[in-house]
Amino acid sequence: MNRILAISPHLDDAAFSAGGYLASRERAGDEVTILTCFTGNVEQPEGFALACQLDKGLGPDVDYMALRRAEDEAACAVIGAKPIHLPFLEAPHRGYDSAPALFAGSHEDDDIVERLRTAIAEQVEELQPDAVLGPLCIGDHVDHHAVREAMVDLPGVLLWEDWPYLDRSEYTPSSPPAFVHELSDYDRIQRLAMCRCFASQLGFQFGGEDALAKRTAAISSERFYAPSP
Ligand SMILES: [Zn+2]
Repeated sequence: MNRILAISPHLDDAAFSAGGYLASRERAGDEVTILTCFTGNVEQPEGFALACQLDKGLGPDVDYMALRRAEDEAACAVIGAKPIHLPFLEAPHRGYDSAPALFAGSHEDDDIVERLRTAIAEQVEELQPDAVLGPLCIGDHVDHHAVREAMVDLPGVLLWEDWPYLDRSEYTPSSPPAFVHELSDYDRIQRLAMCRCFASQLGFQFGGEDALAKRTAAISSERFYAPSP
């Protein structure tokens, strides 16, 4: 039995990007933990942060992160993975005040990487994983980059291709993947079942559940890369 630690920036990234592989490992008897970094609450979101909630059809009184943490718990339950939620705040709550700002590099006064590094190190100490997975950062989301920077020096790190960003980016890898996991039918079924749990995100990310299913059906493999030196 191996212990696999998937470090997910947001509540959905690990399932969207590596759900099939994680499902296969759990079925093979490994112990999978999905550690999600940005799951913290803000009592009364304002401005762009509030808009990010309203544009998902959720009113200002909905506890958006509580809802998303529950989605993640359901997704983890599909494969029997253990969810852990770190209470860091997503970029819209850290001064990134528009959609373009989320993809335009980190702010000089953003100290999130150091705080993430400490929190992730504590989890790694506790869990003693044999393999650590995280984001390659296709799409350049500032939160994905922060997580990658905070975890990339851990031993045994492999980076997944961030989906659905992968489908809309011009990304060409600089080196071949360290390994390719060919999805079995059952992997794909479990991956889709996990992704479906993130109901609040499906309209925004895919245009709905049917589109998610169609796009998942077209995926044949999940690719993982060693961090470049
Ligand atoms: Zn994300």
